[in-house]
Amino acid sequence: AKRMRLDKLLANMGFGTRSEIRRAVKQGRVTVEGQTVKDFGLNLDPETAAVRFDDEEVVYQETIYVMLNKPQGVVSATEDTRDRTVIDLLEPGHRILQPFPVGRLDKDTEGLLLLTNDGKLAHDLLSPRKHVTKTYEALVHGDVNGEDQEAFRQGVTLDDGYKTMPADLAIGEKEQREEGVFSRITLSIREGKFHQVKRMFEAVGKKVVYLKRVSMGPLALDETLELGAYRPLTDAELDALL
Ligand code: URA
Repeated sequence: AKRMRLDKLLANMGFGTRSEIRRAVKQGRVTVEGQTVKDFGLNLDPETAAVRFDDEEVVYQETIYVMLNKPQGVVSATEDTRDRTVIDLLEPGHRILQPFPVGRLDKDTEGLLLLTNDGKLAHDLLSPRKHVTKTYEALVHGDVNGEDQEAFRQGVTLDDGYKTMPADLAIGEKEQREEGVFSRITLSIREGKFHQVKRMFEAVGKKVVYLKRVSMGPLALDETLELGAYRPLTDAELDALL
């Protein structure tokens, strides 16, 4: 059977921070098999132990945190009637834990997508007030220049009238093709409006033709992951996120 410390179980299930939980245990607010326990380091089987916090049943759910290198052609949803979803890319053993994507990437966008069943983490990362930085690499049809950089730094007005927050635009290589010039760029934004990157370039008269997310907060895409592949977050990545 699986073993886990009482304080870890309660923290993972969202009953507070480790220190809050330790205090609550010492205050006698936690019972195991009907008995008050004062030892927050108690080792138990989280799947079978009857734990209550302030008389509320603690239902254990294994947590899952994976980073996926999302390919084009799949949607960032848990279910879809027409398209394959990012959840369809997971093995059944991982799907059973019911992870969901933290935020959305367009169907034709590639790159970093975090999947978890930790609702609190997802909420924190997506909260508009937290301004978590997301960085994208793109290929843009057009000659992206210093004026665009300045416009993005000031904020541009999207098609619905929304003015974007300051964003950092780095300009990479240019390519001349039959259809004109294309620019490789890296853009960091601290908000997440619908189709934001594409609409920011539309606002300056240019078109994103390829888009890939490379980071979200402290989490960077593991470039060794093939498109469509995923792996669990490392302990260091989890520590940086939680
Ligand atoms: N901005 C977009 O336009 N699309 C994405 O998928 C992500 C950010």
